[in-house]
Amino acid sequence: MAKIDPCEIEGACRRIAPHILRTPLVHAAGLSKMLGHAIYLKLETLQETGSFKVRGATNAVLQLSQAERRRGVVTASSGNHGPALAWAAGKFGVRAVVCLSEMVPGNKIQNVRALGGEVRITGKDYDESVQQSLRLAKEDGLVRIHAFDDPRIVAGAGSIGVEIVEDLPGVDTVLVPLSGGGLLAGVATAVKTVRPQARVVGVTMDRGASMYESIKAGQPSQVAEVPSLADALGGNIGLDNRWTFETVRDLVDDIVLVSEDMIALAMRLLFVSQGLVVEGAGAVGIAALLGAAISEPGERCAAIITGRNVDPETFGATVSGLGT
Ligand SMILES: *Cc1c(COP(=O)(O)O)cnc(C)c1O
Repeated sequence: MAKIDPCEIEGACRRIAPHILRTPLVHAAGLSKMLGHAIYLKLETLQETGSFKVRGATNAVLQLSQAERRRGVVTASSGNHGPALAWAAGKFGVRAVVCLSEMVPGNKIQNVRALGGEVRITGKDYDESVQQSLRLAKEDGLVRIHAFDDPRIVAGAGSIGVEIVEDLPGVDTVLVPLSGGGLLAGVATAVKTVRPQARVVGVTMDRGASMYESIKAGQPSQVAEVPSLADALGGNIGLDNRWTFETVRDLVDDIVLVSEDMIALAMRLLFVSQGLVVEGAGAVGIAALLGAAISEPGERCAAIITGRNVDPETFGATVSGLGT
């Protein structure tokens, strides 16, 4: 296994700067008052395609050789990586093929197509669409770009950590939504390089938490995927994990699990007190602050609000309190 070089993150910052939004880190007065911390929100909801995933995808596409650009890229996606890669590839005239399983809803398929991506629907779940992406890489000579276990993706996501410590040099705690750990590995590397005393905390749902179980077991472990409001956090880190497991294990201070009720409440509060539409995965940092003693009163907490892609029915039912 291998580690991310902080220089790679610096390189990613420079490379992607002309193409992605340098998102604001806003002080959330209402939430701060309610929770007794100084809470800052890193608004990745403002990125094109509605999530931070454009950072890693852009960093990856920009590092392809001329020959690789001509061949095109392929990935499997259950959530936000597919649209982000289609967007980034489309910007530079690179062909993008996104493998989706039969479980993926129609609006997501349309989404990838609208961004210029080619959709291949195969397999009954994410793992099967991963197998298909590997086949296509081999047979059609497409370049595979993994959703998180790829140093280009980790470094691209790490640019968020660089921006947080630039904007809030005295940050005490950074709250990072966690699935495969690309975001957490990148942000932890970036933050600890500049401000080692800051705490970096991964947050994920209390069901099907692959990285959490893997850290506990001391090695990448498999868990069953369970439905959650934080659907973008589902899926396994991979038994053949190369990049994210070790970095998360060595650099991250804590991993906190949050319940469905807390995720729903966090979505509701982000909407009611900040006017933000946030998907479940993007709200888990605030859910963690609601549910557990993450940090001392009055500390400066930066929560990465990672995405906004939630369907209207789920969002309406959640923020109106009509159940999840
Ligand atoms: C992908 C994603 C995450 C988790 O990122 P990983 O690098 O897989 O840990 C969190 N929130 C949203 C909205 C995402 O799309």
